[in-house]
Amino acid sequence: MRPRAPQDGEGRPTTAHEIQIASGIVDRSGVVSMLSPFVDAPVGRPRTCTLRGLLIAFQINALRRHHEAHLVEVARTVNGLTDNQRETLGFTHHDPGQTYDRLERLYVKLCAVLEDGHAIEDDGDLQALDVTWFSNALVRASIPPDMLTSSSVAVDGTDVETWGALHGDVVSIEFDAEGEEADDPTDELRSRRSKGPKTKAKVLGVGPDGRNIYTADADARAGHRSATNSRPAGKYVGYECHLAVQTRDVIWTNYIDQVSLSNEVAGVVTSLSFVPAGTHRGRAVADVLIDAKRSGIALDDVVVDPGYSLLTASTMHDKLAAAGIHQTFQLTKTQRGTRPFSGVALLIDGQLYSSLLPPELHDLPMPPRGATEAVKVEYEAKFNQRACWRLSRHQGPDGDGATRWRCPFCKGFVRSRRFPKSMRRGSAVPMVSVPEGAERCCSGIITAMPAELPLWQKIPFGTTAWRLSMGRRQLVESANAALKGGFVDLGRGFFRVFGVTKMTVFLAFSVAGFNVDRVRSFRAKHRLQDPHDPVDYPLVAVPRAKRRKGTWADLVDQRAQAPPTPHGTRSK
Ligand SMILES: [Zn+2]
Repeated sequence: MRPRAPQDGEGRPTTAHEIQIASGIVDRSGVVSMLSPFVDAPVGRPRTCTLRGLLIAFQINALRRHHEAHLVEVARTVNGLTDNQRETLGFTHHDPGQTYDRLERLYVKLCAVLEDGHAIEDDGDLQALDVTWFSNALVRASIPPDMLTSSSVAVDGTDVETWGALHGDVVSIEFDAEGEEADDPTDELRSRRSKGPKTKAKVLGVGPDGRNIYTADADARAGHRSATNSRPAGKYVGYECHLAVQTRDVIWTNYIDQVSLSNEVAGVVTSLSFVPAGTHRGRAVADVLIDAKRSGIALDDVVVDPGYSLLTASTMHDKLAAAGIHQTFQLTKTQRGTRPFSGVALLIDGQLYSSLLPPELHDLPMPPRGATEAVKVEYEAKFNQRACWRLSRHQGPDGDGATRWRCPFCKGFVRSRRFPKSMRRGSAVPMVSVPEGAERCCSGIITAMPAELPLWQKIPFGTTAWRLSMGRRQLVESANAALKGGFVDLGRGFFRVFGVTKMTVFLAFSVAGFNVDRVRSFRAKHRLQDPHDPVDYPLVAVPRAKRRKGTWADLVDQRAQAPPTPHGTRSK
């Protein structure tokens, strides 16, 4: 028998406005009409609550700051509605003592349907009715169209601990992540140093994926998380929540030290993927992003966290590139350096450079972690210098992903007296020295296959322009922070259900609620009215900027109004 959740019958009242927002999200998502045929039983007792009503109640709960993803909270929300509100949302035969059980039955049924693997035809495409589709449909429905203004997202993952209890010591967990994720050596160090005998974590079973199950939560897996302010890096058992958050576009760059970003955008979550910890990150994220693009979200550039660039190219980089999505990313130590390349060019740090690139610009050190801006700029100077020697993409990619590249002398990025043709460029083009005996700058345009350029990105790695572009990651970090304390706290106990499906259903509403909150504060900050809701929020009184004095407008005004004073002083 499962322990019964406490019921206090009393709930906080819900405003008409909250119902309006919540039902707007649920209705726009389209999930009710897609799922109803599977959820509604043709025979049996008529339901005392509808699927639409259930989802709206989940969403009302999740609109509130610091809510918890507990079914009992949703039951309290329903009990706190007025009879009138319940009637509009399809709750009949209301009995406060029964609400929890009724909601639970329908919630369990919904989760079962999402796990059954139904698919329906939608615009000629087969749409799987799984929890990834469900959660992304709700999350996207929570973003007003006028707030989707860029075609870039930043992607990052955050850990979510399972509610299931671990029997034993967390440091003794066997790290069995999929793919190329390596164990963090600092863990070993820490466990060796810490005192006292360790209880070996009890393994309760092995999942169909061949990985250990440590808790009563059969979907939760062992993972590794990086340090935060409140706790050190280490192992944990649970899930990883990957978020794609809208961020600004790079609208122009000189590929060296200058970048123009588009206007500030609302940092809303446009896609999410909730997976067992240690799941291959490329698999967890790439398909969700490609689906987002197919669903009509403008998506050309993804700024990824260093954790994702560890992945081999075929699982993430190539997959996204083939779908027309560029990646901006940080290279790991092992990915850096010079690689073999078939053509007459150098392949360094993922980028093609002229084979005449001076040797002192081949291996460049990155600034130390946490370096000041001034130190970073110092290190970047060399990368910026090297960027002038880059080959320029002349054409492509074609259907196979092949690209054609032009040499920097022919392109006019650099000039040298040895190549008189390049000297016709203006004096703004940097003059470089090339080795004695170099007769030609290149032997024409070269072709590269995608397999040869697995780590290529538009802006050369390490340059100032690259760092400024990477800075767009900040929006996903701020979304993560909001979901780890500011808006809700996805820490242990936020969910009290087990399993990917049950947790993701709750998470979808919480992320949608975060989006509503983010849009509201973005509109308030930029003093934008919601076109559909003129009373959405009180306009914050912004102190008026100090009026400047002595402007031309002042002078013209004065001269028009008053005769000039003898000494030219201002007259009131
Ligand atoms: Zn050339």
